[in-house]
Parts: sequence; structure tokens; C-alpha cells
Amino acid sequence: MKYIGAHVSAGGGVENAPLNAAKIGARAFALFTKNQRRWDAKPLSEESIVSFKSNCKDVGIALEHILPHDSYLINLGHPEQEGLEKSRAAFLDEMQRCEQLGLQLLNFHPGSHLKKISEADCLSLIAESINIALQQTDSVTAVIENTAGQGTNLGYRFEQLAAIIEEVEDKNRVGVCLDTCHTFAAGYDLRSEASSRATFEEFDQVVGFQYLKGMHLNGSKSQFGSRVDRHHSLDMGELGQSVFIHIMGDPRFDNMPLVLETIDSSRWEEEIEWLYSLTGGSESSGCG
Ligand SMILES: [Zn+2]
Ligand SMILES: [Zn+2]
Repeated sequence: MKYIGAHVSAGGGVENAPLNAAKIGARAFALFTKNQRRWDAKPLSEESIVSFKSNCKDVGIALEHILPHDSYLINLGHPEQEGLEKSRAAFLDEMQRCEQLGLQLLNFHPGSHLKKISEADCLSLIAESINIALQQTDSVTAVIENTAGQGTNLGYRFEQLAAIIEEVEDKNRVGVCLDTCHTFAAGYDLRSEASSRATFEEFDQVVGFQYLKGMHLNGSKSQFGSRVDRHHSLDMGELGQSVFIHIMGDPRFDNMPLVLETIDSSRWEEEIEWLYSLTGGSESSGCG
């Protein structure tokens, strides 16, 4: 069974996110549990937590199909002590907010070396940051998102994702989210059925599908291999639609959040409907 949604607004409180998801026909969603451009955040109120959970239940979206995204400010591979400590504290806070909400996953961009340390050292710092956060929490899985490799961001090669996972002590609580736009911009072709199959085969060889916990489904304004992160609508840009047709027909992408971060939110409902239509109608049979 496929669980498709979008990164919806949590404006006015996290409890509004499931309602916004339901409005566009989503069966999964992503959200920020705090303002993604600020370091500080008020703790979640008990009232907000309770109504988040009851709204999810009311709209029929299971907590395991929700993929919260952390703040853009966090850099778990920060080369300087102060930035690293600030990032680690903020990441722990994000993990704890997820636990309070009953969420099982936290999606984050791995980190940037800022040209001050080697790639290998940065990857080790990221793994150490994950270990520290997992030690202080009980249940949330740290979900590393692959990047386009813009600037000094790591995680654009499958080998880099594998290197981080290799150093994470609790392998049951680390996973990966693949973003189709980032994958393509990083130089993994997805423009045809054959190239999609080959790219996911390479992912399976290098990282392993057992670590895949979610997907970001985005078209790409960026050119193939450009290392530039610019999303587009699913039917526009450089990527084409083969990869989405492939994903919808491949059971390895079942039972995980598949989340749109496409640029025109007024088209999300239509995009979700289109993706479900590619699953062959078996999704509505009620036997999944
Ligand atoms: Zn993404
Ligand atoms: Zn992106």
C-alpha cells in the first residue's frame, strides 16, 4: 500500500498539519514541529500534543506515515565546536518533540563541512551526532535525507549515506529518505524506467532498501548532475515522470511516507491523485 502526501503547513500549531493533509487527499504528510528558520522554540503544549494525535486519528493518518523535517539551521557535521554543540542540542530537542507527538521518524539533511574539515571527518561527526541523539531518546529513528550536494553539503553520494550509517551504533534507529530531485541533481539518472531501476539498484547495493524509511517526490528545475537543489512540480522540469511511475509500481516503496515538496502547493491535490492513479487502483480495494 502506498502512503502519499505533502509537506503541509503547521501554521497556528502542529495540530493543524493533519487537517491540512486531509484537505488535499493525503494519507501521509511531512511537517516542521517548530519554526524551521529559528533556533529557539516554545515547548509543545499538552493541548497541542493531544489535539495533534486526535486530529491524525480523525483524518485516518497513522503516526508512522508522518515524516517530520528538522530545522534548516542544524548542521550535525559542523566543523566548529560552538556550531556543533548548538546543532546537537537543537536536534535533540527536535527528536524529543517527535517523541512527544508519538512520531517515529525525523528527517534531516546530514551536514556540511564548510570547507574547514575533510569529508570523512564531517561524516564521522554526523554519525557521532546521531549516536548522541539516539542515546538520549527512546524510539525515534534518525532519517538521513540524501542531498543535491549543493555547496558543501554532504550526503549526495550513496556511499556517504552508507558511511554515516556504518558508524551509527543502533542500526535499528537510523534510516534514509531519498529525494528524487536531490538524487537526480546529484548525478543519479532517473529519466527513464531503465535508469530509475539502475539507480535504485545502486542504492540497494550501496546502502540497502532495509534503510529506506521515506521518499520526497519532487520534480527538478536543476539540470542532471548540477548539484543544485531546485524542486519543480512532478510534470515539469528536467526529471520527467518515469521515476514516479516506477516508484508507484514498486512494492519496495510501500508502507512509508511518500511526500511531495513540489513548488506549487495549489497542485498537491492533483499530484497526489495522479500518483495514486499509477498504483493501479488496488489501493482502494480495502485489502491492503
Ligand atoms: Zn527533500
Ligand atoms: Zn531540496
